Amino acid sequence: MFNNLSEKLDKALHTLKGHGKITEVNVAETLKEVRRALLDADVNFKIAKDFTKRVKEKAIGQDVLTTLNPGQLMVKLVKDELTELMGGDTVGINLGGSPTVILMSGLQGSGKTTFSGKLANFLKTKKAKQVLLVGCDVYRPAAINQLRVVGEQIGVEVYAEEGNQNPVEISQNAIKHAKANSKNVVIIDTAGRLAVDEEMMNEISNIHKAVNPQETLFVVDSMTGQDAVNTAKAFNDVLNFDGVVLTKLDGDTRGGAALSIKSVVNKPIKFIGTGEKMDAIDVFHPDRMADRILGMGDVISLVERAQEQYDEQEARKLQKKIAKNQFGFDDFLTQINQIKKMGSMKDLVGMIPGAGKALKDVDIDDDAFKGIEAIIHSMTPDERTSPSIINASRKKRIAKGSGTSVQEVNQLMKQFDQMSKMMKMMQGGGGRKMMQMMKN
Ligand code: GDP
Repeated sequence: MFNNLSEKLDKALHTLKGHGKITEVNVAETLKEVRRALLDADVNFKIAKDFTKRVKEKAIGQDVLTTLNPGQLMVKLVKDELTELMGGDTVGINLGGSPTVILMSGLQGSGKTTFSGKLANFLKTKKAKQVLLVGCDVYRPAAINQLRVVGEQIGVEVYAEEGNQNPVEISQNAIKHAKANSKNVVIIDTAGRLAVDEEMMNEISNIHKAVNPQETLFVVDSMTGQDAVNTAKAFNDVLNFDGVVLTKLDGDTRGGAALSIKSVVNKPIKFIGTGEKMDAIDVFHPDRMADRILGMGDVISLVERAQEQYDEQEARKLQKKIAKNQFGFDDFLTQINQIKKMGSMKDLVGMIPGAGKALKDVDIDDDAFKGIEAIIHSMTPDERTSPSIINASRKKRIAKGSGTSVQEVNQLMKQFDQMSKMMKMMQGGGGRKMMQMMKN
């Protein structure tokens, strides 16, 4: 996410960070570099200029040059300004109304249908809502099919009326259907076009008037940079929408859309899409995003994700096994699956402070565990519960079965061994022992 921008800002702030002596000249130099980094990220010229102007004013106000740690203060000022630029506070969605009606708008290909599914899944699993998805694209039967596939995947009902060419009517009927079937959230996916045109705007505006949604969200592909901002403006002029959804932030996006949209339309970014899968959705937190951009990681989100996957009963079972020295490869597999459920590896690594920068050239792919899983799957149940029986000939067989080498099997066995030892130590209240081990 925003790798290029992070790198450039890091370089810009580098001089100040570890510097004892900061002068007016190098503050000005730094801010010039910051502005250049923003422009390279496809941030509009005026926004970038105002940004550095504000940082400079604050720096002068706080008399940066005479503070104890001027470098850190400058980083903080830039961070605060980035947070502000992306909207300041986190803004949730309005779930009032009975049912709550959420209208999706945006161009074709922006990720509307995918996001409708993600949001339905999010509201179903995290907020215990009964959701109805509505397909209103009367021009492309494929779009309705896509929504049906999504609905099936997440177990959410999809309402559509094949043959009806009137999206206003379909939306109104869908709301009636929702009321009759005790659904409390209706998400209306509308037809997009490849570019802004009057017909599309009239259509969505008519639906908007007819259903009077609690929440109108504008979905935009973050890869489209300044175009995203222009499209947002066009939609906002007609719909006066409530919030923005930035999709495809997992791609190689420069960041311009995320950094400019709030200033241009004065509407908050509420969600981001970070992948094609149904769980690749995050509530947008401007401060956490600013931290990530500045390479400070996002520990809060990381912990939240871990907590979501934490299952107390499972944890107790595991604890008992470790205490009894019964931690086996099956448990190891379960642990891997827990981690995988937390999100894509690239995304997770990006949340660890400093890791994004340190590993920027390493291609972290989500198949990182595949080799390990293949090796474990090639073990017999006995071997998994009692790894000590795995001798040389068994290793050879396992390597062959998993399409790996004996060396790779050995490596996994060694890692497993170390991990088991470490877990045992942590269990025995052995924080001290651990420290000792690390020192050695
Ligand atoms: P719509 O025409 O606006 O309904 O867009 P779709 O939902 O059909 O999405 C267009 C394409 O973008 C599809 O191939 C999606 O899988 C993909 N897509 C949507 N959201 C994301 C995202 O957050 N990340 C990535 N990588 N792809 C996405």
